[in-house]
Amino acid sequence: MEELMIVVNEGKTKQILRDPSLRSDIVIIMSKPDITAGDGAKHDVIMGKDEVANETTCNCFELLEGEGIYTHFLGRKDKVSFYAWLMQMIRVEVVIREIAAGSYLKRNPIITEGTVLKPLVVEFFFKNDKLHDPLMLWNERKKVFEIYEPDKPITPDSYMRDLSLIELSAQNDPIPTLGELEEIYTTARRVFLVLKESWKELGLTLFDLKIEFGRSPKGEILLADVVDNDSWRLRKGVEVLDKQVYRDSSQSLEDIRRNYIHVAELTKLFKKLPII
Ligand code: C5P
Repeated sequence: MEELMIVVNEGKTKQILRDPSLRSDIVIIMSKPDITAGDGAKHDVIMGKDEVANETTCNCFELLEGEGIYTHFLGRKDKVSFYAWLMQMIRVEVVIREIAAGSYLKRNPIITEGTVLKPLVVEFFFKNDKLHDPLMLWNERKKVFEIYEPDKPITPDSYMRDLSLIELSAQNDPIPTLGELEEIYTTARRVFLVLKESWKELGLTLFDLKIEFGRSPKGEILLADVVDNDSWRLRKGVEVLDKQVYRDSSQSLEDIRRNYIHVAELTKLFKKLPII
């Protein structure tokens, strides 16, 4: 008989579970059918979203692993969950952008939506609800990260304070080193390029992507969390297929559900694409 699972952590769209019959450094990441926006201010449940989110995430991780990018993904469990290493998460959201959109335009008002960003822009945001996930910028002269209000142009006015690296690790977890943050920067670019090329083969355009990293039980820095249709801006021509339509309330929940299913079905084709 299957033992009761232990809830290790719970977010808005997923649960991290532990199966006591498995080794303690393996977790189960289970998607929920919830969709949220604006720090949870907007919230709905879309029937079947858990299955399509899990399908999308598993296909993305399998694609990335096939391209030699190390991730926490260990294998599929069932329709709504997968096995992964238990990670010590680094409290940074990494956003990679090739086409300007969203909050980038607020920070850089002279740039118009749709501008192609060359080279790719990689931004680090400090995961902190109270501070609304500020942007982290490295100050080479002071040798520290400074944090800036995320939705305002980057000026001395939007400077909040210096950030201590201690704040980037949860509880007693080891503090990430600058070398590790550099490694994250490099891997994040590779992750984006693999996904962008794969989507391009399927006729879609990846504008940007948000990913997270953590430290594995062996101490390696690995891509972690999930990569699903909530994580990116993805378009087919002018058609928006990602979560943006939910944030903007520009489509019905049924249409959004259809988009999510369509995207999940397309990610099944990743394994048929040639290696990049
Ligand atoms: O809002 P912004 O332009 O900074 O978002 C950049 C990318 O990161 C978008 O693809 C968005 O979906 C994603 N994102 C996310 N989770 C967040 C913030 C942004 O997946 N908390």
